[in-house]
Amino acid sequence: MTPFQSSGPVVGSDTPGLRPTAPSAPQSTTPFSSSGPVVGSESPGFRPVPPVAPQTYIPEASGFRPAPPARFNDPSVPPPPTSYAPPNAGPFPRFPTPQFSSTQPPPSRAPFAGQPPFQPPPAQVPPPQLPLHLQQQIPLVPMGSPPQNVNYAPASTNVAQSPSDSSFPAPRPNFQSSFPGYVRQQSSADSQAPPIHSPFPTKQGGAPFQTTSSSPLVAHQVGYVASPFGFQSRDHLQHPSSGPPVGAIQSLVEDFNSLSIGGSIPGSIEPGVDLKALPRPLDGDVEPKLFSETYPLNCGPRFLRLTTSGIPSSQSLASRWHLPLGAVVCPLAESPDGDEVPVINFASSGIIRCRRCRTYVNPYVTFTDSGRKWRCNMCSLLNDVPGDYFAHLDATGKRVDLDQRPELTRGSVEFVAPTEYMIRPPMPPLYFFLIDVSVSAVRSGMIEVVAKTIRSCLDKLPGYPRTQIGFATYDSTLHFYNLKSSLTQPQMLVVSDLDDIFVPLPDDLLVNLSESRSVVETFLDSLPSMFQDNLNLESAFGPALKAAFMLMRQLGGKLLIFQNTLPSLGIGRLKLRGDDQRVYGTDKEHALRLPEDPFYKQMAAEFTKFQIGVNVYAFSDKYTDIASLGTLAKYTGGQVNFYPNFHSAIHGEKLRHELARDLTRETAWEAVLRIRVGKGLRFTSYHGSFMLRSTDLLALPAVDCDKAFAMQLSLEEALLTTQTVYFQVALLYTASCGERRIRVLTAAAPVVTDLVDMYRLADTGAIVTLLSRLAIEKTLSSKLEDARNSLQLRIVKALKEYRTLYAVQHRLAGRIIYPESLKFLLLYGLALFKSTPLRGGYADVTLDERCAAGFTMMILPVKKLLKLLYPNLIRVDEHLLKPSAHDDLPSIEKRLSPSAASLDSRGLYILDDGFRFIIWFGRVLSPDIAMNLLGPEFAADLSKVILSEHDNEMSRKLMRVINRLREKDSSCYHLCQLVRQGEQPREGVLFLSNLVEDPIGGTNGYVEWVLQIHRQIQQNP
Ligand SMILES: [Zn+2]
Repeated sequence: MTPFQSSGPVVGSDTPGLRPTAPSAPQSTTPFSSSGPVVGSESPGFRPVPPVAPQTYIPEASGFRPAPPARFNDPSVPPPPTSYAPPNAGPFPRFPTPQFSSTQPPPSRAPFAGQPPFQPPPAQVPPPQLPLHLQQQIPLVPMGSPPQNVNYAPASTNVAQSPSDSSFPAPRPNFQSSFPGYVRQQSSADSQAPPIHSPFPTKQGGAPFQTTSSSPLVAHQVGYVASPFGFQSRDHLQHPSSGPPVGAIQSLVEDFNSLSIGGSIPGSIEPGVDLKALPRPLDGDVEPKLFSETYPLNCGPRFLRLTTSGIPSSQSLASRWHLPLGAVVCPLAESPDGDEVPVINFASSGIIRCRRCRTYVNPYVTFTDSGRKWRCNMCSLLNDVPGDYFAHLDATGKRVDLDQRPELTRGSVEFVAPTEYMIRPPMPPLYFFLIDVSVSAVRSGMIEVVAKTIRSCLDKLPGYPRTQIGFATYDSTLHFYNLKSSLTQPQMLVVSDLDDIFVPLPDDLLVNLSESRSVVETFLDSLPSMFQDNLNLESAFGPALKAAFMLMRQLGGKLLIFQNTLPSLGIGRLKLRGDDQRVYGTDKEHALRLPEDPFYKQMAAEFTKFQIGVNVYAFSDKYTDIASLGTLAKYTGGQVNFYPNFHSAIHGEKLRHELARDLTRETAWEAVLRIRVGKGLRFTSYHGSFMLRSTDLLALPAVDCDKAFAMQLSLEEALLTTQTVYFQVALLYTASCGERRIRVLTAAAPVVTDLVDMYRLADTGAIVTLLSRLAIEKTLSSKLEDARNSLQLRIVKALKEYRTLYAVQHRLAGRIIYPESLKFLLLYGLALFKSTPLRGGYADVTLDERCAAGFTMMILPVKKLLKLLYPNLIRVDEHLLKPSAHDDLPSIEKRLSPSAASLDSRGLYILDDGFRFIIWFGRVLSPDIAMNLLGPEFAADLSKVILSEHDNEMSRKLMRVINRLREKDSSCYHLCQLVRQGEQPREGVLFLSNLVEDPIGGTNGYVEWVLQIHRQIQQNP
């Protein structure tokens, strides 16, 4: 047993024998790359684990087991042996440390597993302004839906949208009257034969799909209702369109949208696109309804989103998709409406799982043989129903106890894991704080904010009364704190030998919070003053990190690092390599974005192995090498919070809020995550913040609701023989309460045989999330420009493929064509181009900010990412002038497109990207408003002004608006940054660069971008 093989059988050990040998693959060394160092495979330079050390558990882990035979044909896999270690005396016994074995070679994997499997982009992207061949015969009709079925009554609420309406309501009928001027032969077949082409195979004799007529949005989208016992028809025959299939073209006609690329201004020969007509996601992220409506038993989209819920039936079909095929999983997503995931304790019967493929019982399994057997939906094996779990079936084949079995009716459930899912008692929540106390940290005020925030959160730390806590500080030496409960005040212990780190009094440096509460409080109260006169410039960060590891490895837990200086002493010291203009554009460029010293990655591997998750808080006003520091978070399931140029007076509240959330949000400890998929398919790469253990197990020492993971899927077999594909995510973890749990998320998706259906069922949010992670990973092995080009090429290929489906028939040469489901793809693609990790080159973003943004974007859930890419812009001055009774938030929340065209110099605007508010004061904004909001500082340099409430109604109103906007997203604190129109260069850096629709700094505007893509689509090949 190796120490790292800690996490549970559930995900880990449960499928021995089921996974095919992973294609051999190399190890990657890039921080973002999906394939982290295989845990345990490298620990050079690291002191061997002393035999007394700890560690983790979980029965048979998945770590380095030999590659099993092909899955689905092996005999049943018996449950893993239980190696539960009975607690020793004391609440948190130290566990004997199994020696970590490093003799077995790690599974290899491709160097950049996350890299999209397409060819390198063309060396050059032609400039956008080349004249296009205009089709003058096609007048400009914004977003008109081409060949439509005008006789599509009765459900057709065929309301044509006003072409000049610049707002683009999301749910929009995707069939409209033919637009004027569109030349098309209406055949009689067209006018009578609707969706016809039935894309989904039927299943189990149920009426497979039929169109639903209730909503214009889905009117042409196939829908069918799944139940655990088969598929039931819905609205069948209600719609006159339920005719026999007549061909693929028809079904495609209903879904696509197009945009004229012609003379944009009547009488003008300038090629162009009507800017107002371009689609914009002003309603934010709208989860695809079709998927959840057709499979109501699926887990909610906040947990799992597929890039397309139409799973291609063949490899050849998949190869024409071009966009990523995969999923985004946010296993602990918070419920906006208090919809809690039910917790189920099987107790005596044990957790019901398929004995062959280890799938958990779920709403899609079926019961037969009078209730004595159940069939696995994933591998079709017929399993016995344990006696304790038996229930009779009613006449329709449903279990009579169905309404008391959430696991059979809900796609998201949580099972209480019995002892075979652990080999040591569940760990207590443990927080260890490593705090830089060098002079720059002292002067920034960071230490005081951190100490006060931790103290204010002591009552809210999860896991009382088991919670453990400890602290260390460092400058050129390390300082430990004896917090033993019998002391009246903490004792400081200084270690100055950085070459041979040892931990004094290891038993008293990490203590039970409830027992040592008063000593901890005394420590936190005195911490800020302890170092107020410290003039030490150095940072022995590496040695401090090793010491923290030595203290924490017995139990695991969360390590919070507060770093204000470039590590300068001892192991892990970093050079001021900074940003070097000369390497941009060369093959060395990406190295700047990688950790400089292998120490960081090795430490990350050790941390993960011992169930330690690392969150990095970095504050420096100078280069701190976030690329190296962030690696610690990247491979341990953690996150990087970067506050460049931190000053407590300005950023204190943001740090307070975000640290408090980090400390108090529900955290899943010592977790592993696996996603299963049915026969013929396999997840091949993973993207996010984790360490990959074995080929498909994500090790997550600590994970919470703010983390999402993305993965790519591929077909293992040339053809899928099933009609439905099932997905099941299992997260095995220890809850703060000390219970071992398995969160199980299950979803079904149809197999489709037509590319059109893949497009129809596409989810732009999931696609953009995967695309962004792939592009950011590419910046770690390539130039920024190459990463952008790859992204662009992928979008071009996808739209080109779509175009070939019917452009010729419909004479759409002068139009750019895209599926309704992907109408925002172009805009999000442009926004991704301009995002901090990808944009420009040397001068556009500081290296640390670029790396920090990269680490952040790699973990964001879909909604949060989309908002960052395409921020909210709202106008507030008119609202402030209204009588005070009207504090109607929705009315002021009308989103404007982030573009200079949306701005009025007389206005006051808030730009909200999900992380901050930038408040823009128009040049001729009424002086009354400015005075009311800013008080005596109304004419001051706004970079130095902190927005605060003044004693007038207008100011109170603005603060109410801001607070209400903040309440809508508690995952981070939106700091207000103020900027005045024309105040350069600040306005450009802070505000204008976020107007993603505009051509800024040599980038394309939305129109130019669309033209450029269109031209590339038309190029051969
Ligand atoms: Zn099975």
